[in-house]
Amino acid sequence: MAQRHSVAEARLLQKWICMKCSATHRGTKPRACRKCGYTKLRPKAAERRST
Ligand SMILES: [Zn+2]
Repeated sequence: MAQRHSVAEARLLQKWICMKCSATHRGTKPRACRKCGYTKLRPKAAERRST
């Protein structure tokens, strides 16, 4: 994609939430939650504008 995003937006696009303890992980998707070791993480993407 050729779309440009600001650095801040790019960071927002790389947030992962542990589905067990809800810990947040920034950056690339971690193998597992650093807090509890749970491997299921959901991406917290920047807000999608569905309108
Ligand atoms: Zn966790």
